[in-house]
Amino acid sequence: MDHIEGFPNPFYITQPLMPEWDELSRIMKSVFESNQLSNNGKMVMELENQLADFLGTDCLSVFCNGTIALQVACRALRLSGEVITTPFTFAATVHALTWSNLKPVFCDIQEDSLNLDPDLIESLITEKTTGILPVHVFGTPCNVEKIQQIADKYGLKVLYDAAHAFGVKIKDKPIASYGDISMFSFHATKIYHTIEGGALACNNPYLKERLDSLRNFGINNDSTVKEPGTNGKLNEIQASVGLLLLKKVQAEIEQRKYLTDLYRQLLHDLSGLQVYQDIEGIRHNYPYFAVKIDQHQFGLTRDELHEKLLQYNVISRKYFYPLCSNFQCYKDLPSASETKLPIANKTANSILALPLHGRMCESDVKKICTIIRKVKPK
Ligand SMILES: *Cc1c(COP(=O)(O)O)cnc(C)c1O
Repeated sequence: MDHIEGFPNPFYITQPLMPEWDELSRIMKSVFESNQLSNNGKMVMELENQLADFLGTDCLSVFCNGTIALQVACRALRLSGEVITTPFTFAATVHALTWSNLKPVFCDIQEDSLNLDPDLIESLITEKTTGILPVHVFGTPCNVEKIQQIADKYGLKVLYDAAHAFGVKIKDKPIASYGDISMFSFHATKIYHTIEGGALACNNPYLKERLDSLRNFGINNDSTVKEPGTNGKLNEIQASVGLLLLKKVQAEIEQRKYLTDLYRQLLHDLSGLQVYQDIEGIRHNYPYFAVKIDQHQFGLTRDELHEKLLQYNVISRKYFYPLCSNFQCYKDLPSASETKLPIANKTANSILALPLHGRMCESDVKKICTIIRKVKPK
């Protein structure tokens, strides 16, 4: 078994969940016949109701994307000055703060959860701090209890970036029930999507009213304009795609769980390659299959493994590399220096996400694992 064939075509890290064509054409027809394509139409209202139900939250507003949703949340929570966040995230988390005239203050992460380390938050709080923006990285819940305790002690708002955490629960409690607001992203690369889209979940109807107003230029129903809002609306076409995909997302998560378990089983004995296991009491959603490479034990660096896999047409991703604190635009912030963020810097150089999506089958996972074994130096 020396010669192993790669994949004939690039095998991408993900493939979007797709609606059935027949169902899609039927629902599109009804949208076109309704003559309403945007501005809180029937499909958007229905999607908000069904998503609130699915995510177990009282209030939910859908948006054109997750990044605009984050910016609206910052304004709705009246954040100002400094906000403590993690560098180990997608660019949008930190950029949303900057676009809201807020100063990101980077906090190092925990080695196991990959999330913001709550034990380090207090030392970063100044008189300018107004909020915390943690990320449930790869869908693993943050230490929500501890973060809330700190927020309560210092009077800070908590805005969760839950872009990866669709459907996650902590002991049967939905992830959206923590913090002041949780943002979900419905981009096509996420497990659940509306092509582009996002949502803000909260448990305060007055806050939802404000989010809805900010999403629509700050225009009130009675045609008075209270404040400078933006255009964050989702349209009827995308909302109807969202309604169709909501029926399929549970099966998607189950197939991903099955494939994740298979990956773990086939890779757990490889030295220098760490797989992450489920945490007891957490309902996971399997958005990514991430492994951590110890270059000394594995015999290759993470980047070398990434390159080798490319030769077999396996497209893996270096999540999250480069680290946000090392971006040109943030590297000069006092909190961005590498010495203050040792775990995040190490992690950003050692994590690789392997292909995972619901259309993959057992043989795909087996083949990828065989290729990894083949390229690992003996
Ligand atoms: C995808 C993502 C976002 C941004 O979402 P968009 O809907 O693409 O704007 C924000 N944060 C994280 C962690 C993400 O993965």
